[in-house]
Amino acid sequence: MAAAPPDCDLAVAGGGILGLAVARELLRRRPDASVTVLEREARLAQHQTGHNSGVVHAGIYYAPGSLKARLCVEGARDLYAYCEERGIPFERRGKLIVARNDGELGRLAELERRGRENRVPGLRRLDGDGLRELEPHARGVAALHSPETGVVDFAEVARSLGADFEAAGGRIQLGCGVERIEPRGRRVGLVHAQGETRARFAIFCAGLWADRLAVLAGADADPRIVPFRGAYLRLRPDKAGLVRGLIYRVPDPRLPFLGVHLSRHIDGNVSLGPSALLAPTRLARSLAWPGTWRMARRWWRTGVHELTRAALSRSFAREAADYVPELEPGDFSRWYSGTRAQALGRDGSLVDDFVLSATERALHVRNAPSPAATSSLALARLIADRAEQGLD
Ligand SMILES: Cc1cc2nc3c(=O)[nH]c(=O)nc-3n(C[C@H](O)[C@H](O)[C@H](O)COP(=O)(O)OP(=O)(O)OC[C@H]3O[C@@H](n4cnc5c(N)ncnc54)[C@H](O)[C@@H]3O)c2cc1C
Repeated sequence: MAAAPPDCDLAVAGGGILGLAVARELLRRRPDASVTVLEREARLAQHQTGHNSGVVHAGIYYAPGSLKARLCVEGARDLYAYCEERGIPFERRGKLIVARNDGELGRLAELERRGRENRVPGLRRLDGDGLRELEPHARGVAALHSPETGVVDFAEVARSLGADFEAAGGRIQLGCGVERIEPRGRRVGLVHAQGETRARFAIFCAGLWADRLAVLAGADADPRIVPFRGAYLRLRPDKAGLVRGLIYRVPDPRLPFLGVHLSRHIDGNVSLGPSALLAPTRLARSLAWPGTWRMARRWWRTGVHELTRAALSRSFAREAADYVPELEPGDFSRWYSGTRAQALGRDGSLVDDFVLSATERALHVRNAPSPAATSSLALARLIADRAEQGLD
């Protein structure tokens, strides 16, 4: 492979779905510009993009007016259109958010309100009989049904975006992790494993490394990325027929995660997950951040509960029987896991919305957790708008 170019107009660090969507969008707008993606791994989409639930969210949960709310609805529509155009398999399987008892009805009503305000297409409320018509093995007192929620393999989407970008003349440099960011007159220098690339403007879409790169470029250390591991179990294939689409619990509205759910993936496998546990790989770094301790004090009950569930996958699986009673803990085996890049403020608050910030000749994606894969094409347009302002 040729070495990374010493100069380009625009550099994008990160070859996940977001970096690739941004690079493709920039080149569509400026076909004559030289655009380079620098990715530290030997292949694209090796982190969050390749290890997630694969759900194309419809935009129900997010605070009305937030970037998540707007870009998820727009992004899902664009993503389906893109997959159709490129022949990437996807299915609008539909999703049920199930209230298991009357105590959850208030939170279900709030989700319905948000979904309507966010203009989620086709959203409707079902009673216990209505939900069983769609998912005959599920039980609950009521549910929200989102027919537009679907499944796709986001890594396949990312590779396709990368292929579009290269076909339009863009350059993807693998094994090229950015280690330092330095001012170079009217350019920004990205020092990496293969030397240095100087760009007129750089965009950082580095997921778990977003905070470190932003600090290297001179940004504030707040918020810090705290990695949360999400582990999945797989349902025995002979029981996969118990789940037709996507079955979710009513989530805890104070947490940014949607909770454990049953999903029939695009390959037909059914998963249960993900858990939400501080990832052990970067625990020391997470514990050095004051926000982690503040969050722990606030969330210790949830944390202990999650720890117990992760240690005892039987108890994790037992919860699934709350809404699909025919499921038993022995029906599940360990499957894959992914690590969420979640921004955590110094004050201990989990940052909910997507966050972008600027440094000299650069833009940083500081928080792009779920539904950023769903939203990637719409989020890429927003990022490209800001990058163009910086460039001009
Ligand atoms: C368990 C889990 C479940 C999820 N479920 C869903 C879901 O169902 N639906 C949904 O929409 N979203 C979901 N998400 C969120 C979604 O996966 C992410 O929001 C999305 O993939 C973010 O894309 P990204 O490109 O920003 O990050 P990533 O895919 O993490 O990509 C970042 C890239 O930057 C590279 N990089 C890092 N540092 C450097 C450096 N110094 N130099 C060069 N390159 C660097 C990394 O190697 C990596 O390839 C889930 C996430 C997880 C973890």
